[in-house]
Amino acid sequence: MESAQGAPPDDEHDPDGATVGFERAQAAALVDMARARLVELDGALARIDAGTYGVCESCGRQIGAARLAAVPGAHTCVSCATPKRFRARRR
Ligand SMILES: [Zn+2]
Repeated sequence: MESAQGAPPDDEHDPDGATVGFERAQAAALVDMARARLVELDGALARIDAGTYGVCESCGRQIGAARLAAVPGAHTCVSCATPKRFRARRR
């Protein structure tokens, strides 16, 4: 983004690639995702300090080890994290 400062304002018609506007939006989205991940990991560290890491904040059951390995900042179990419309129906 810094390198774009002082560039001609009309760079939206480059036939060789994505527009600068698209690339900026993509970079901003990646920064937002990284910040959100940091917030999740800070929350995980706080739960470790509190002794509640790995416990689902919604139902109180243990969060599976595989889920924690894949999503270390997870604060809910798979069941609670899954929207109701996607949960398997029990009869
Ligand atoms: Zn749960």
